[in-house]
Amino acid sequence: MAQFDSKTVKTIGVYCSGGDAPGMNAAIRAVVRTAIFRKLKVVGIMQGYTGFLEKHFVPMDPKSVANIIQRGGSVLKAGRCLEFHQAETRRVAADNIRSAGIDAMVCIGGDGSFTGADLLWQEHKLPIVGVPGTIDNDIFGTEHTIGFDTAVNTALDAIDRIRDTAASHDRLFIVEVMGRDSGFIAVGAGLAGGAEDIFIPEHPFQIEKTIEHIKQSMARGKMSSILVTAEGQKPGRAYDLAEAIRKHSGFQSKVCILGHIQRGGSPSAYDRLVASRLGSAAVDQLLRGVCGVMVGTRGEELTVVELTHCLKQKKHVNRALIELAQVLSN
Ligand code: ADP
Repeated sequence: MAQFDSKTVKTIGVYCSGGDAPGMNAAIRAVVRTAIFRKLKVVGIMQGYTGFLEKHFVPMDPKSVANIIQRGGSVLKAGRCLEFHQAETRRVAADNIRSAGIDAMVCIGGDGSFTGADLLWQEHKLPIVGVPGTIDNDIFGTEHTIGFDTAVNTALDAIDRIRDTAASHDRLFIVEVMGRDSGFIAVGAGLAGGAEDIFIPEHPFQIEKTIEHIKQSMARGKMSSILVTAEGQKPGRAYDLAEAIRKHSGFQSKVCILGHIQRGGSPSAYDRLVASRLGSAAVDQLLRGVCGVMVGTRGEELTVVELTHCLKQKKHVNRALIELAQVLSN
């Protein structure tokens, strides 16, 4: 685990990067209030790595994070900065951070943001601790990422509503949830919503098996079904699925793509709790002189994992949960 001299740390920077996620504000609040409690100064860096380049730095105090724990999005904004892939851009960013008197940072974001943070440490020795903030829950080394629980509950609420219509009209619905490379939201919301089948990007469609399952349900008198799919690489995967089902069985289905409503909204109690713990733990790691790591969760415990380790490994969805959804929807 990388170490640095934390005795010189007087000012901590905090930023959100990549996609926003509900609970990021609770994490910002925890970073700011923990740092100030420990007699440090805090600077907010706006708009992720764009703020590094534009020197968009804002002094933070306990009042600046008042009344934000319940708000979705990020008061520091989030977002992407493609120039950050270039080494020269990162050199300018590092110079700007040092000139602003920022000694160490907390990065709240996903694996792309952590890659940028890791490079800033490797190339410029800027000490950074990562806090996992993404609705996708696809970061290795933590059971939970900030925003995931809220996104699952938002998708679940939509599935429950669609279930009413599906049941009233004896329809087959396909609900598409977010998840480009990973199916954590699909599995969470699908299982909790009683979906008949769940499709995730990690595995190809198994249409015949799904159709067989729907036919068996119909034979038992269950005339409506809900299938949940993650969007995968291209939103609209649900339409491909609907077409495949029509081709193989003649069944017509209705498609509902949930899209960006899954990103926003007031964070769940669980996301606020995890965000508060992780934000605070990140500051404490920096004060211990530990950097180049992510703080995460394992059960009730907090973990500290090297960023390089998180970035090298892929976190896998538990396939048994998909099989469980099929068993329980019988
Ligand atoms: P997330 O952090 O949610 O995975 P992105 O993958 O969009 O989101 O990454 C957020 C930002 O992190 C990017 O816009 C870029 O500024 C920075 N970043 C991502 N990948 C790299 C990389 N390979 N090198 C340097 N910076 C990166």
